[in-house]
Amino acid sequence: MIELLTIGDELLLGSTVDTNAAFLGTRLTAAGFRVLRLTTVGDREPEIRDALLSALRRTGCVICTGGLGPTPDDLTRPVVAALYGRELLLDEHWLAELEGRFQARGMAMPANNRQQALVPDCAVLLPNQRGTAPGLALSDPALGTTVLLPGVPAEMRSLLEAQVLPYLAVQFGPRPPVRSRTLRTTGMAESALAERLAGVGDDLSHLTLAYLPTGTGIDLRLTTWGELEEPDAERVLAEGEQRLRQAVGDLIYGTGNEDLAAVLGVHLGRRQLRLAVAESCTGGLLAARITAVPGSSDYFLGGVVAYANSAKQALLGVADATLGQYGAVSEKVALELARGAVQSTGADCGLAITGIAGPAGGTPDRPVGTVWIAMQVPGESRAERFRFAGSRDEIRARAAQAALALLLRALR
Ligand code: AMP
Ligand code: MG
Repeated sequence: MIELLTIGDELLLGSTVDTNAAFLGTRLTAAGFRVLRLTTVGDREPEIRDALLSALRRTGCVICTGGLGPTPDDLTRPVVAALYGRELLLDEHWLAELEGRFQARGMAMPANNRQQALVPDCAVLLPNQRGTAPGLALSDPALGTTVLLPGVPAEMRSLLEAQVLPYLAVQFGPRPPVRSRTLRTTGMAESALAERLAGVGDDLSHLTLAYLPTGTGIDLRLTTWGELEEPDAERVLAEGEQRLRQAVGDLIYGTGNEDLAAVLGVHLGRRQLRLAVAESCTGGLLAARITAVPGSSDYFLGGVVAYANSAKQALLGVADATLGQYGAVSEKVALELARGAVQSTGADCGLAITGIAGPAGGTPDRPVGTVWIAMQVPGESRAERFRFAGSRDEIRARAAQAALALLLRALR
């Protein structure tokens, strides 16, 4: 188990986003280490010391980033040396390396940079090819292992790959990787999904189940935490996936980071069906989702953005009487829009969206977020009413996603 400690006032002020933690979490997890906790502190000696000491007590292995620069606000090196009871000694090799680099650029090395060749006695120096601050690794039986990395993301990343992961592999031995499998759902809120999965989560031995909302759906992520060697890890993941598919298979459209529009495209292509769309409140978002998929020209003919009623009539043949009797946001108009998309392009399938994205324009019986979505496939047409929550952007994104899902369901 490993803890992360990211150091820097800028992280607490919010002026720098802590991308180092995200990168370390991803790479260490993939390498089989369980990252137990992330702590962030500013450039202050007592906080750095406290955070490091308590992290070491919990896990015996901490990776820190930041505070290795040549300026007085960079405190990590002396704090860690003092904690481990080591003296800071000048590393002649690294000093020569730094002087050589400055010389090669025709510059004299500023005196400040000498600090970066000060290394706690017995620490392993991890040479930094991209910057002047080397990584450092300290280990002793009482405290455990601390790895110090520079804060500059590019330097931190290359040091992690080239130096730290091999160092940890020697220290802790080879480890089965942490493995995940993600199943993507759309069309049901997190709490309702959890209800349908009640009991399943508790029965998954060696696995954890996480619910990850994406804005247009919930990803279900199964994880084995490096307790199992292959092929057991693979078997347990496959069994977990099976359980989830039994419980909520109708809501699952893909795995990993598959896109719903791409999955739909595969189904359309396989059945040699061509699609056209008609959009009101999404203003082209649905067509944008569909055409973002490479190869969509094989099955997508085109779309019409018909915002005003007059455009719905002129471009898509929606009847004046239908608009007058039911209003633009209605089942009947959605169906006529879908039919209009099919007829005006000669497509086999049609999708249509008409709704109220807000923030204005809601009424008591058609509040903001009310969206009618219709689909037409050979031999069937159907419309569904949705009530999306969120901002204008969110409602539009959710409507486009729901339209793709409605057609996918009809084609499966
Ligand atoms: P330092 O090693 O503390 O001198 O950090 C050098 C620079 O790296 C800072 O000015 C930040 O721009 C950047 N940095 C430090 N820590 C992080 C972090 N956790 N995530 C992203 N960037 C960082
Ligand atoms: Mg700093």
